[in-house]
Amino acid sequence: MNLIQKNIEKLRDELHQHNYYYYVLDKPLISDFDFDMKLKQLNDLENKFPEFNDDNSPTKRVGGVVVKRFNSIIHKYPMYSLDNSYSKEDLEDWNQRLNKNLEVTDFKFLCELKFDGVSINLTYDNGVLINAVTRGDGIQGDDVTENIKTIKTIPLKLKGSYPDKFQIRGEIIIDKNDFIKMNKNRISEGLEPYMNPRNTASGSLKLQDSSEVAKRPLKCFLYQIVTEDNNFKTQNEYLINALDWGFNISNTYKLCNNLNEVIKFINFWEKERLELNFDIDGIVIKVDNLNFQKQLGHTSKYPRWSIAYKYKTEQVSTKLLSVSYQVGRTGAVTPVANLESVLLGGTYVKRASLHNQDQINKLDLYFDDQVFIEKGGEIIPKIVGIDLNKRNPSSKKIKFIENCPSCGQNLIRNESESQHYCLNVNYCPTQIKGRIQHFISRKAMDINGIGNETIDLLYSNGLILNCADLYELQREDLISLERMADKSIDNIFIGLEESKKINFERVLFALGIRYVGQTVAKKLAREFKTIDLLISKTYDDLLLVDEIGERISESIIDFFNNEFNMELINRLREFGIQFQINVIDEPTNDVLSDYIFVISGVFETKSRDELKKIIEKNGGKVSTSITSKTNFLLGGNNIGPSKIEKAKSIGLSIISENDLSNLIESKLL
Ligand code: AMP
Ligand code: ZN
Repeated sequence: MNLIQKNIEKLRDELHQHNYYYYVLDKPLISDFDFDMKLKQLNDLENKFPEFNDDNSPTKRVGGVVVKRFNSIIHKYPMYSLDNSYSKEDLEDWNQRLNKNLEVTDFKFLCELKFDGVSINLTYDNGVLINAVTRGDGIQGDDVTENIKTIKTIPLKLKGSYPDKFQIRGEIIIDKNDFIKMNKNRISEGLEPYMNPRNTASGSLKLQDSSEVAKRPLKCFLYQIVTEDNNFKTQNEYLINALDWGFNISNTYKLCNNLNEVIKFINFWEKERLELNFDIDGIVIKVDNLNFQKQLGHTSKYPRWSIAYKYKTEQVSTKLLSVSYQVGRTGAVTPVANLESVLLGGTYVKRASLHNQDQINKLDLYFDDQVFIEKGGEIIPKIVGIDLNKRNPSSKKIKFIENCPSCGQNLIRNESESQHYCLNVNYCPTQIKGRIQHFISRKAMDINGIGNETIDLLYSNGLILNCADLYELQREDLISLERMADKSIDNIFIGLEESKKINFERVLFALGIRYVGQTVAKKLAREFKTIDLLISKTYDDLLLVDEIGERISESIIDFFNNEFNMELINRLREFGIQFQINVIDEPTNDVLSDYIFVISGVFETKSRDELKKIIEKNGGKVSTSITSKTNFLLGGNNIGPSKIEKAKSIGLSIISENDLSNLIESKLL
């Protein structure tokens, strides 16, 4: 094979692997930009040397085109969620709180349907649509303006007399009949049908090609204006006027004089909603008067002047096929019901959590039972009852397993606990892998370059038995493994090296001591400052620490009494892992803990180092180079052109010193 052919093959292998990490594992190893560059390089070579053509080259696959990220934009006004209510009593409580806070009782309510779609925030300046941003985490969302412009129910230019500057929020939905039509077409083309209107709407907004978005039957209902203009007095006036400016306002809203009228409205739609051509998941009730809204303000999560009323969730019945048991990293065993696939609230459901033995007994569950399932607040549905008429007289009661499905050891259940445990902590394969996976996870040691699949691979090849072994890996060990390209190996070593900077409280969390979550780890680290001091403490000493109870103390003592754990800690310490608090890098809060920043350029008021400290004091991370994981480029004057280009190519937001302060402030609210 000549060198050109070799290079082409090498690029193909790498790209196949990156595709896998990106699409299957959702853990990209390189930035989108680097990926695109490599793909382009390969494409160029293939065009130049057609003799080395390969129909399976990554350039020939649709999947070879990486989805570009959208620019993220910080919301000028945070997008809060809504407090929920489920009964008349909940609403009465809310009403009481309003009475108390407002010191008046003669306010009105504006009731609207709670459209079940994707929320969107539109900005209009002088009557022209400026941008459209998804809710994201409420603080910042994705700029999907180009896609939104394809939706006919969203006006690009307004009519009438509107405020100069305002934002308006609404919900993007797909009508039921459009959805059914769409799926019929897909099935006739041999494609998988979509799951439900909401997810399809949400997925559509994230499509790269807006001409594809234009083909989707998206619609938008608007319901909330946000502006500093104060020409309007009530939500009702807003809705009436917004209709005149050209917005699609559903005519289902109603102004109610008191709570009784609100409840009538709720009851009316409880039945009527089934006749609607779109899904709603409740009613939104708002205090109509905008001054009152202002007075009431909001909590850190939701406005106090509004509440959602959620209708009771849908129930369906299906057949229990089997029960499987999952072992967690602490040895806890959770039973899971495998069900005959059934449509519930628009999605197909195949599994339900059974929590523990008591839950199974309480349900009095038998094999092959016909069960009723319901979606609660969580994503995983639960079994709420059994159709006894359909029970097969010969079927047997479900008995909780006695042995660990991973290692075979007898399971133990303490009287005071509801969970069964496998106590074979040191040798149970699932627990070992679970602990290492916990160790590398984002909130723990955050080791870039190693994913859960890599841990599986390393473990099953006998290369690691605990997290300290990671730091002894040699390049030669990894080269021989399947799916390991040079670049990925480099990333593993870089990630491991970086993890040595992770602060003590996170290291403590990463050790995976049962009941020691992030908050407890933080408490312990701050209280004792070093692991040696923590280890030297007795059960009673630990109890003296604020918020540390018997369960946690006992678990900590057990952990340090285990010689495997002590050896592990000693080895990790030798590799340079932080086992004591470093006063300088101790964050004062963690409002930025989800964000990674890159700082570049010269700033007006602060030095780069000062900015870095500010970010770190607020729990954020600063890295030196832009990757697909970077959330913001904090840019001053004279940023390097290559940095700007790279940021642009991956759709990264460039923010100023001021934006940073705003971001921190809005998070601290
Ligand atoms: P939740 O996601 O349950 O916290 O509910 C808040 C979401 O309800 C908002 O982000 C909106 O997307 C959605 N929503 C739907 N209809 C309305 C409405 N009429 N008024 C306010 N929010 C609504
Ligand atoms: Zn086990």
